[in-house]
Amino acid sequence: MTDSSATVRPDRHAELAGGLAQVRSRIDDACAQAGRDRAEVTMIAVTKTYPASDVLALAGLGVTDMGENRDQEAAGKAAEVAAAGVRPRWHFIGQLQRNKARSVVRYADVVHSVDSVRLARALATATADRQEPLDALVQVSIDGDAARGGALPGSADPAAGLEPVAEAVADAPGMRLVGLMAVAPLGWEPERAFARLAEIADAFRAVHPGATALSAGMSGDFEIAIRYGATHVRVGSALLGMRPTLR
Ligand SMILES: *Cc1c(COP(=O)(O)O)cnc(C)c1O
Repeated sequence: MTDSSATVRPDRHAELAGGLAQVRSRIDDACAQAGRDRAEVTMIAVTKTYPASDVLALAGLGVTDMGENRDQEAAGKAAEVAAAGVRPRWHFIGQLQRNKARSVVRYADVVHSVDSVRLARALATATADRQEPLDALVQVSIDGDAARGGALPGSADPAAGLEPVAEAVADAPGMRLVGLMAVAPLGWEPERAFARLAEIADAFRAVHPGATALSAGMSGDFEIAIRYGATHVRVGSALLGMRPTLR
């Protein structure tokens, strides 16, 4: 093991505590303004590019949910964190290749990025012998641009239509369909994106009443996502600092 598993330095701990206090107060304010119960919104700390020591420090500060977007990085980090005796709820939020499904289901509690029937089936196979079902969100495309990923609302496309993907998840014994996830499309005002997402989610819940989770909003736009019903906000840079590389 490397230095990354060591306890964080006091200055880093103070930095994380400060970031967390700010994000928590932004979430409190957004819930108050939206007239929503604070308990309805879960903050996922997106720890990609940051070491296991940061995860341990955040867990020590009371953060229960962590997000990662790359299997190789996440698998190693989750193992390091587990070796330290800490077991956060791990959310896989990134684009996922089918050949990584087997690895991801070993440490993830939730996958937010199921966006094709083929991926849903790969996860279904991989979760066949899990003890606990894997919670799964279908990632939807808000602008309907298939090229940028996300299942297509209102489309019967057997490979990537929202309903076919949701059915593939719902039919898998090892998975539980819990809701929808989306990222605001490039070039869209967050207002417009999350208003559209709220409509998609309303229609979706009419068909899948148990699928109440809505994963939307990142550091720059989570207040708006909360106004439009987000139950899970995915916060990286506002908590941990700017990442050295954009991804
Ligand atoms: C990196 C990432 C986030 C967090 O982004 P920040 O702007 O750093 O808060 C949220 N969601 C997804 C899918 C991401 O990849």
